Amino acid sequence: MKRMIFDEDHDAFRDSCAAFLAKHATPHLESFIENKGLPREFWLAAGAEGFLGLEIPEEFGGAEAGDFRFNAVLDEELAKLNAAISSCVAIHTDIAVPYIVDLGTDEQKKRWLPRCATGEIVTAIGMTEPSGGSDLAGLKTTAVRDGDEWVINGSKTFITNGFSADLVLTAVRTSPEKGAKGITMFALEATDEGFSRGRKLDKVGQAEADTSELFFENVRVGDDRIIGEVDRGFIYMMERLPQERLSCSVSNVAHAKQILAETIQYAHDRRAFNQSIGSLQHNKFLLAELVTRIEVAEAYVDKAVLAHTRGEATATDAAKAKWWSSEIQNDVLDHCVQLHGGYGFMNEYRVARAWRDARVSKIWAGSNEIMKELIGRDLGF
Ligand SMILES: Cc1cc2nc3c(=O)[nH]c(=O)nc-3n(C[C@H](O)[C@H](O)[C@H](O)COP(=O)(O)OP(=O)(O)OC[C@H]3O[C@@H](n4cnc5c(N)ncnc54)[C@H](O)[C@@H]3O)c2cc1C
Repeated sequence: MKRMIFDEDHDAFRDSCAAFLAKHATPHLESFIENKGLPREFWLAAGAEGFLGLEIPEEFGGAEAGDFRFNAVLDEELAKLNAAISSCVAIHTDIAVPYIVDLGTDEQKKRWLPRCATGEIVTAIGMTEPSGGSDLAGLKTTAVRDGDEWVINGSKTFITNGFSADLVLTAVRTSPEKGAKGITMFALEATDEGFSRGRKLDKVGQAEADTSELFFENVRVGDDRIIGEVDRGFIYMMERLPQERLSCSVSNVAHAKQILAETIQYAHDRRAFNQSIGSLQHNKFLLAELVTRIEVAEAYVDKAVLAHTRGEATATDAAKAKWWSSEIQNDVLDHCVQLHGGYGFMNEYRVARAWRDARVSKIWAGSNEIMKELIGRDLGF
């Protein structure tokens, strides 16, 4: 069925995303993996073509699209190519930058947004700590007032773009006695004294994403680094996590859909018992199930994206999209590996990498258990 949420403008934008990636990403995928990260040239090229500023106002150098479907198109084209590239770019465009756009002062916007749009500044979001990510309200990194400044101490872990980010939107405890109501978002620059990073973490998948620990040792910053108001950080995160979860959902479906299409081709080409392996009834029925599952998941995610574009999607809608799409993605990709036989277990095959890259989608952006907790609460439990 034709998808109903996109018009010609989105289609034209999709073509330009695909052309950009064919030139600036596809030929370099192996080097991105070897270097465990995206080179700055990739970010600068993406910025030059306007892909990084979808949410940034025109006066600060962005495209000010005002339509999340453009973000979704970009997320899909990136995910079709590679799940890790999609996560790195989406953390910047869909997740971190919007904090500054929505909550930043004029001075903060002037200082950071134009360079976020060009790719000179790469951003990250620092919520998770070594002691825990699901219980965000329990985070331990502190900012203590000292004269006109805040002194920040603590650490974050598993931070996407953490190794290369120039600016990290960081959740910090400012009022120890106030639990969730005592957290503030700070924008920390990588050049701030006392800011340091660990190595690029050695992950099971998503090798192209430079995921790092971050350390803050007596980082001194002024009020000009506070994003929004003191002690409202938890609310800001809760308001913005649904967009992060929708962005993940879009990528999850697009990623699995692409690899499934490649697997169907493989099932046509690969032969056993004098016929294509796809013609064997078990495999034919399995592929029929998998395409159906993907299309049904896509329909729900499309509906959620459209609702979000209209400002109508709830946190529960996003939680449903996130857990369901990640389960479908992982399930479909596991079958795709099986259909490739031994080749499916070889790193040089896209399907093997895709299978490993997908696993994290059930864990991050709020684990699937936390998604079900949110949905359950909405049911009144
Ligand atoms: C590759 C990668 C990239 C990431 N990128 C970022 C990033 O850019 N920024 C960032 O801030 N974080 C990032 N994360 C962190 C991610 O969001 C967390 O790993 C995730 O939220 C889970 O937190 P945790 O790892 O501390 O697990 P824990 O919170 O310790 O949870 C452990 C297990 O307990 C379960 N659990 C916890 N609470 C409940 C509950 N109430 N009910 C039922 N089960 C529960 C969880 O579902 C999980 O299965 C990333 C993680 C990875 C692996």
